[in-house]
Amino acid sequence: MTDSNIRRAREGFLWEGVEVLAYKDKGSAPFRDVTRQLLFRTDDLGCELRYFEVSADGHSTLERHEHAHAVMILRGRGVCLVGTELRSVGAHDLVSIPAWTWHQFRASAGEPLGFLCMVNVARDRPQLPGEADLAQLRADPKVAAFIRT
Ligand code: MN
Repeated sequence: MTDSNIRRAREGFLWEGVEVLAYKDKGSAPFRDVTRQLLFRTDDLGCELRYFEVSADGHSTLERHEHAHAVMILRGRGVCLVGTELRSVGAHDLVSIPAWTWHQFRASAGEPLGFLCMVNVARDRPQLPGEADLAQLRADPKVAAFIRT
C-alpha cells in the first residue's frame, strides 16, 4: 500500500496499491468471471470509481437500482444492455445507466471487457429481476437472446 496521492499504473490494467477483488460475494447474484478494483473512494466527492473486468465470454449481473452509473469502456469489446437498448461497445465508449434501468455487460468471446464505473458512495442495493421482469425483458427477442441470469 502507499500513502501517496499518486499511484502508478502497472502492466495489465492493474494499479499500485489497488487490490483485485471479487465482483460480488459468491452466490449473492448471478455473474460470470468478473473482477473489481476500487480505484477511488472519496467521501469529499461522494463517489467511487471502480474498474471492472469481465473475462472473455463472461457477464456482469443483470440488475437495476435507484443509483446511477457512469461507465467508460477501457479495454476490449462487448455488448451492453441498458433498458431495452442493446449496443456493441469498445474502448472509450461512454455508457450512462439511469436510475431503475435494467443493465448487463457481456464481454466478446475473444477478449476481456474492462470498464471504469463511477457510482455514489451512498447507494441502494441492486435488485435482481423476478419472473415478471424477465418476461417483460424477453418480450424483445434480441434482449431474450442476450440476457444471462
Ligand atoms: Mn449496477
